[in-house]
Amino acid sequence: MELFDVYSLFNVTPVRAQGCTVWDDKGQEYLDLYGGHAVISVGHCHPHYVAALTEQLNKIGFYSNSVRNPLQEELARRIGEVSGYDDYTLFLDNSGAESNENAAKLASFHTGKDRIIAFRRSFHGRTSGAVALTDNPAIVSPFNAHHRVTFVDLNDGDAVADELAKGGVAAVIVEGIQGCGGIHLPSSGFLQALRRLCDRYGAVLILDEVQSGYGRTGKFFAHQWSGIRPDIITMGKGIANGFPCGGILVSPMFQARKGMLGTTFGGNYLACAGALAVLDIIEREGLMANALAVGDYIREALPKSGRIKEVRGKGLMLGIEFDERVAPLREALLYDKHIFTGVAGQNMIRLLAPLCLTRAEADRFLEAFNEVLAA
Ligand SMILES: *Cc1c(COP(=O)(O)O)cnc(C)c1O
Repeated sequence: MELFDVYSLFNVTPVRAQGCTVWDDKGQEYLDLYGGHAVISVGHCHPHYVAALTEQLNKIGFYSNSVRNPLQEELARRIGEVSGYDDYTLFLDNSGAESNENAAKLASFHTGKDRIIAFRRSFHGRTSGAVALTDNPAIVSPFNAHHRVTFVDLNDGDAVADELAKGGVAAVIVEGIQGCGGIHLPSSGFLQALRRLCDRYGAVLILDEVQSGYGRTGKFFAHQWSGIRPDIITMGKGIANGFPCGGILVSPMFQARKGMLGTTFGGNYLACAGALAVLDIIEREGLMANALAVGDYIREALPKSGRIKEVRGKGLMLGIEFDERVAPLREALLYDKHIFTGVAGQNMIRLLAPLCLTRAEADRFLEAFNEVLAA
């Protein structure tokens, strides 16, 4: 049997990794400024992370959510502590898309309404409900389009107010920073307006922090730069450094009811052990501050090339926008300079490095990037 061929693949086969370095099957070394799409938060194969997962696997690897799981309770306590949301509750699932679907479901249960406001260029995942909240016609099938979702422009508070006034809105969902749509930041004033509007109309404010959260921008969640508190925060990607894990933080206004949410694998022992080790490492190694400092350093030091249209982002979530297609640049970085980078659309190079990226590694990228631009 062959694979169902849905991914465009680079001609690289990683077999081993450590920190921000990856080696392929030919022994070639690569610098990783992509982090497997913002998933590798604390670096590849961190010894503390590997030890935590290995130890857990030797104790008990899996049981269902029909028994008490002290690791889930510990993880809830720890995420509450590090994020400042210790009065919220935690529901664990397996991915970003699942987290957004659970958030939408909870909002709809809570309000009894079924409309959702999302934003142009949004990305909230690939499963049926999550992709319906996503503004990308190439990945939304006719089946998904039946959800009652209205898209408005990011940073247009008046448009949100108009839609809310029409009634029936369960939730407004917005990314902490739009990632796949091209690193677009909601302004602090806009997030504050969303908070006021949701309060006025009784709609639930959902912040999708799947990509922008978990320390990447220098605060635990990107929206925390604006001072607002959403009703639900969704997480995924970096939460367990590559072991599949997602989750939502739920404000105290929600009433849990037995059976309203559920999952087979969500919150399993291995995911929790991985997620707890990630928090240990973020705290011990000061990775949130590092992400902000090294991100700022890269921004400042990027070449002042006329080909670069704009640089946007915060911390280690950076988009470098060009007027031209970036595929050749990215290929030169990968095949000539041996550096992994991401993209957003056709014209943007997107950097989503592990939060432990050092200045020396940033310098290696900057030098290579200069050379590739000059070539
Ligand atoms: C990646 C991503 C998702 C989807 O996460 P999956 O784990 O792939 O389901 C949702 N929202 C945002 C902002 C993302 O970047």
